[in-house]
Amino acid sequence: MSRRAFWVTVAVLLAINWLITSLILAEPDPVPVPYTTFLEQVEDGNVAEVTSRGDTIEGRFVDPVADPADAASVTVDFTTERPTFANDDPLLELLRDRDVVVNARPIEEPAPFWQVVVFSFGPTLLLVGLFVFFMRKMGGMGGIGGLGRSKATRYDDEAARRVTFDDVAGIDEAEAELAELVDFLRHPDKYARLGGTIPRGVLLSGPPGTGKTLLARAVAGEADVPFFSSSASEFIEMVVGVGASRVRDLFSEAKKLAPAIIFIDELDAVGRARGGGGVGGHDEREQTLNQILTEMDGFSGSEGVIVLAATNRPEILDSALLRPGRFDRQVAVSPPDQAGRRAILEIHTRGVPLAESVDLDVVASATPGMAGADLRNLVNEAALSAARLGHDQVETQDLTDSLEKILLGVERRIVIDPDERERTAYHESGHALLGMLEPGADPVRKISIIPRGQALGVTLQTPDADRYSHDTAYLRGRIVGALGGRAAEDVVYGTVTTGAASDLEQVTRIARNMVGRWGMSEAVGLVTVLPAPGMEGYGPPPASPQTLELVDREVRRLVDECYAIALTTLRAHRPQLDALAAALLERETLDEADAYAVAGVARVTKVDQFDPRQN
Ligand code: ADP
Ligand code: MG
Ligand code: ZN
Repeated sequence: MSRRAFWVTVAVLLAINWLITSLILAEPDPVPVPYTTFLEQVEDGNVAEVTSRGDTIEGRFVDPVADPADAASVTVDFTTERPTFANDDPLLELLRDRDVVVNARPIEEPAPFWQVVVFSFGPTLLLVGLFVFFMRKMGGMGGIGGLGRSKATRYDDEAARRVTFDDVAGIDEAEAELAELVDFLRHPDKYARLGGTIPRGVLLSGPPGTGKTLLARAVAGEADVPFFSSSASEFIEMVVGVGASRVRDLFSEAKKLAPAIIFIDELDAVGRARGGGGVGGHDEREQTLNQILTEMDGFSGSEGVIVLAATNRPEILDSALLRPGRFDRQVAVSPPDQAGRRAILEIHTRGVPLAESVDLDVVASATPGMAGADLRNLVNEAALSAARLGHDQVETQDLTDSLEKILLGVERRIVIDPDERERTAYHESGHALLGMLEPGADPVRKISIIPRGQALGVTLQTPDADRYSHDTAYLRGRIVGALGGRAAEDVVYGTVTTGAASDLEQVTRIARNMVGRWGMSEAVGLVTVLPAPGMEGYGPPPASPQTLELVDREVRRLVDECYAIALTTLRAHRPQLDALAAALLERETLDEADAYAVAGVARVTKVDQFDPRQN
C-alpha cells in the first residue's frame, strides 16, 4: 500500500466516523427542565407526549417553552427527572386528564443495530485491516496464503524512469551481449531458423559497482517484454520453506507471460556451492537453489523465458548452476578502462554544471581501478562540495578534493603528541622513500601526516596507467614499500609500535597469494594450494598439511627478505629519509612533485604495469 493510499484510507474512515456521529446527534438534545416546570406545563395542557424510562421522563411541549438555563432560547423537547419521593403523586391521572400521549421504554434498552455492528465487529475488522496493511507493506503478500508468492517486481509497466543502454558506459562487451539477448526475445524465429537454441541463462559476473544491476535494468527498459526482477536474498529472507515456492511462483508467472526475462540479482546469496563448510542452516538456501535448477531444467527452450542473473563472486557458485542448459552464458563485467571511465563520467555529469576548466580526461586518468559506482560517487561528492562552498559550478578543485577524500579518507583534525607526530612522519617517509626507490613500485602521489580515518598518516601511490597483470618485481616492491613504515621506525628509533598493523595485513595478503596462488615461489612450485578469496572452507582441502606448512615457511621467507631490503635501503638513504620527515613535520602534506624534490629522486613514468585492484 502506498503512502498516498494510506492517507486516503484514513480520510475515508474519518469521514464515515463523522457521518455516523452526526446522524446520531441529528435529533436535537432535549433540554433538562425542573420537575416542577414539567408539572406546570402538564397542568397548562402544554405537553403533547411523554416517554418514561425509569424515573427519566422525556417529552415534547406543544408550544415552545423558554429554556430555564438560557432565557434566550426556547425548547420543545425536554427531559426531566421525577424525584423518587414523588412516586405516589397522581402523575398518570393528570397526564390522562390532559390527553398527553404516554409512552414507556425499558430501562435496559437494546442498543440500536449500528451500535451492535460497530461494537461487535469493529475491533475485529480493525485488527484484520491493520494486519493486511502491514503484510502489504512487508512486500505485497495478501496474508499468510501469499507468503510463498514471489515478490519479484515486474518492470514492464513500471512508472519509474526507464533505464536504457544510454545510461550504461564503459562495459561495452557486456552491453553488446545483452543487446543480443534482447534481440533473441524479440525475434526468436530469426535464430531458430538455423537450428540454434536461445540461451536459457545468462550470468553477469564482475566486481561490485561495475554496473551489473544497472545493465539488467537497462535490459528491462529496452526489451519490451515482461521483466521480473528479484534479489536472491529475498527468496530466503523470511520464513523457512518459502524460498522454493517463491521461485516456483516466479517461474510460472514468467512462463505465462513469455517471452519474458527473469532477473535474479546477487545470485551468490543462494547459489553458493552446496555441502560446504559452515554450521547448519543451509537447508533453506539449498532447497531454493535446487528449485532454481529444477525450473531451469524444466524449460524446453521454446518458452521464450530467459533467466538473467548477476553475481560479484562467480567463483563461489555451485558448479551445477553453470552447466549447459542453465547459466551457460557468462558475461564478464570488468572495471572500465580509461576511455570507459571518461564515458561513465560523462553520463554522471549530465545533470551537473561543470566549470569550463574541468577536463574529464584528466579525471578519468586519475581514477584507475575505479568502477562506475565509484565514479558516480566521486561526481556526487564533488557536486556536494561545490554546493557547500557556494559555487555555481563544479570546479576541478572540487573533483580533486573529493577524489582525495575517497582514496584517503576524511581528514581528522585531532591533536597529536609531538613525539607521535614525528614517528608518524618517519613512518610515512619510509613508505614513500621506498616507493620512490623501488624500481617496480607505483609512483608516490602524496604523503601526509594529517590523520584520516583510523590512520595517523598516509602515503598514496597509484600507477601511471591502468595495469592488468602483476610481475614479481612489482609485487616485491609493494611488499618492501608496505614494510617501509615499520622499517623506518626501526631504523630511526630502534623500537616499533602498533602503527603498522594494516601494513602487515596487506603484506601478508600479497605474499600468500604470490606463494600459494600465483606460482611465484620455487619451493612450492606452479600449483594452486590456497583457495580463492571467499572459497575458504568450501570444496576439498586445497593441499596437504605439509604443503600448507611449506607455504607458511615460504611466505615467511619472502617477507623476511623484503624487510631486510627495506632496512638496508633506508639505512643507505638515511639523509633522504630525514629530509622527507623534516619536510612533513614542517608542511604536513607533500604532493608528488614536492616529495620527489625533497627526496632528490628522479620521477620516471611507469606504464604497462598492473591493476592495483587485482587480488
Ligand atoms: P553492481 O550491480 O555491478 O554492483 P550497480 O549496477 O549497482 O553495480 O552500480 C551502481 C551504480 O553505479 C549504478 O546505478 C550507476 O549509477 C553507477 N554505475 C555503475 N556502473 C556503471 C556504468 N558502467 N555506467 C554508468 N553508470 C554506472
Ligand atoms: Mg548489483
Ligand atoms: Zn604504514
